Amino acid sequence: MKLQQKTSLLAIFLSGTLAIVIVAISLLSFRQFSISTAREQVHSVAEVVRVSLTEAMINNVIDQRKSFLKRLAEVEGLLVARVMRSPEVIRQFGEGFDGEQVVDPIEKMVMENGKPFYGMTDTERDPIFRGTIPFIANQTGEPNCLQCHNTANGAVLGAITIQISMAQLQHKALLTIGIMTAIITIFAISLTIFFRRQMNPVVATAEEVQRVVAKAKDGNFSGRIQYTGHDEMGDISRDLNQLMHHLQENLSTITHDVSQLLRYEAEGNTNLITTTTEMVETLLEIAQFKQAVEEDRTKAEVYFRIAHVLRDQFGIRQCSIYEVSNPGMNHMKPVIVDGEIDTGCRWCNPEILFQADSCRAHRTGHVIDAIEHPMICSQFKHVHDNPDLGHICIPVFHSGTVGNVVQIVVERNHGRLYHRLQPFIQAYLRESAPTVEAKRLLDTLRESALRDALTGLHNRRFLEEYIGTLEATAKRKKSRLSVLLMDIDHFKEVNDVFGHDVGDTVLRVVSKALAAQVRTSDMVIRYGGEEFLVILQEGDEYSGERMAEKLRLAVAALKIPVSSGIMRKTISIGVSGFPSDGEDIWEVIKCADLALYEAKHTGRNRHIIYTPKLAKE
Ligand code: GH3
Ligand code: MG
Ligand code: MG
Repeated sequence: MKLQQKTSLLAIFLSGTLAIVIVAISLLSFRQFSISTAREQVHSVAEVVRVSLTEAMINNVIDQRKSFLKRLAEVEGLLVARVMRSPEVIRQFGEGFDGEQVVDPIEKMVMENGKPFYGMTDTERDPIFRGTIPFIANQTGEPNCLQCHNTANGAVLGAITIQISMAQLQHKALLTIGIMTAIITIFAISLTIFFRRQMNPVVATAEEVQRVVAKAKDGNFSGRIQYTGHDEMGDISRDLNQLMHHLQENLSTITHDVSQLLRYEAEGNTNLITTTTEMVETLLEIAQFKQAVEEDRTKAEVYFRIAHVLRDQFGIRQCSIYEVSNPGMNHMKPVIVDGEIDTGCRWCNPEILFQADSCRAHRTGHVIDAIEHPMICSQFKHVHDNPDLGHICIPVFHSGTVGNVVQIVVERNHGRLYHRLQPFIQAYLRESAPTVEAKRLLDTLRESALRDALTGLHNRRFLEEYIGTLEATAKRKKSRLSVLLMDIDHFKEVNDVFGHDVGDTVLRVVSKALAAQVRTSDMVIRYGGEEFLVILQEGDEYSGERMAEKLRLAVAALKIPVSSGIMRKTISIGVSGFPSDGEDIWEVIKCADLALYEAKHTGRNRHIIYTPKLAKE
C-alpha cells in the first residue's frame, strides 16, 4: 500500500475512533445529566406538592386539592402527578379521591420502606423519568405533622408519583451530538488533508528515490532527485544525488580506462556495472591467458591455446589460424583449422598459401568483416554456395607486419554477437602476438642452426639431435630404416679445375637432386664436405638399394653448366639397414661407410650393400 494511502487511512481511522469515543462519552454524560436533572425536577415538584398539601390542610381546604393537582399535571413535560394516602392516613381520614390509591408494586414498596424511587420508564414513544417520593411525618418541622396526623414521627403519610417526559432533553442531546459529530468530521477531513500535505514531500522524495535506484540497478547512474527543500527529505535527496554523481563519474572513468585497454567501445546505453564487470573479468582472463601463453613450450601449444579460447570463451568452433611466412616469401600456411592441425586450407582458396597477398586481411592489415560485407573477399570458398556463412578475418601483427591471420567462420545471423565479441577476441590475439613472434624467431634460429647454409639440407647437428628419436620410433614401430651414405666422385677435381665457387654450385645442385627423390618423411643430410646421408623410414629390405640406384641415376643425369660447357658428376653409395646391420644408427652408418669405401674401390658411380664380410676385410 502506498504511503499516501496509509497516511489517509490512519488519519481517517484516528478521527473515526476519536469521534466514536467522544460520541459515546457524550451520550453517557448526557444520560447521567438528564437523569440527575429529571431527578431534581421530580424532587422539586414533590416538595411543591408537599408544601401545597400541608398549606391546604392548615387552611382546611385539603378537599380542594384535586383541582391543584389537575393544574399541576398540565405543566409542560409533566406527564403524571398523582398523590396517594398511606394506610394510616386512610384509617384516620378515609380513602380520599379516586386515583389516590397505591396501584403498582413500586408505590407499594415506597409506602412500606419510606424510601424514594427514581428510574426510567422506557415506553415505545418517549423516554419517561419516574419518581415515587414518600411524604414522611415530621414532628420537629413547622408545622408539626403530628399535630394533625395520629401517627408516629417518621411514619409514611403518603407518596407522590411523578412522571416527566425526557423527549425534549433527548432531542437536545441528539442535536448536540450531531453538531459534535459534524465538527469532528470536518476536523478529521482537515486533519487528513493536513497529513497528506505534510506527507507530500516525503512521498514525492520516496518515489523519486525509487525511480533513481531502479535506474541505478540497470547500471544507469544519471538519475537525480529534483526535491531541494531544506528538511530531512532535502538532505536525503542531496546525499543520493551526490552518491549517484560519484558512482557515475568513477564507473565511467573505470569503464573508459578498461575499454581503452581492451580497445573496446562500450555502447552509450549499456549497463555500466555489467559492462565494466564483464570487461574487468575479460581483462583478468586475458592476463591469465597471456601468462599461460608465455609459459607454453612451443608455438604449436600457443596456437592450440588460441583455438581453445576461441572455442571455450567465444563458442567459435570453425576457425583457421594462418601463419604468414617471413617477409619476402609471400607464403602463408594454416597451422590450425577447426581445432585440428595439418588439415590444409578448409575455408579459403588454397591459392592464398602461395600467393599470400591474395588474402585480403594479410594484404591490407585490416579486419575483414564478411558478415557485414558478404562479397568483400573472393578467396572464401563458401562465398557463393553457402551464403548463410560469414567470416571475420583478423590480422595479427608481429613487429609491424602481419604475422598471423585468424579467421572465424560463423552463421551470418549470429553476426551481431560476433561483432560485439570481436574486440575481446582481438585483445586475446594482441596479447599472444609477442609470444608467438618470439617463438617463431626462436624456431627460425634453431632451424638455421640445424641446417646447412650452403645446400639448405639438414646438417650433422640435426642428425645428432634427432637420431635418438629416430631410433626409438623405429624400435617402437618395429620398422626398418635404410641408411645410404654417399660421396661425390672426384670432387676435388672440380675445385681444382673450376674453382671453389663451382664446387659449391655442384654441391647445391646435387643436394637439390637428392632431396627431390625422397619422400618428405625421409631425411637428406649433408654429412660432411661432399658426403650426404639419406635415411629412409619404414621401408622394406630392398628399398635402400632401390633408392640408392634411383639417387645414383638422378645425379648421373644432372647436367651442370660450367664455363667450358656441361659438367656431369657421379656419386658412390654405401647402403646399410637398421636394425639388421647394427644395434644403433651410428653403428649402421659406419657399415654404410664401409660399403661406400667398397664402392669407391670397385670403380665408383655405383652402390654397394653392406655385408658383414666387408667389415672383416
Ligand atoms: P673420391 O672420389 O675418392 O671421393 O675423390 P674426391 O676428389 O672426391 O676426394 P675427397 O672426397 O677426399 O675430396 C673432398 C673434397 O671436397 C675436399 C674438399 O676440398 C672438398 N670440399 C669439402 N667441402 C667443400 C665445400 O664446401 N665446397 C667446396 N667447393 N669443396 C669442398
Ligand atoms: Mg669425400
Ligand atoms: Mg669424393
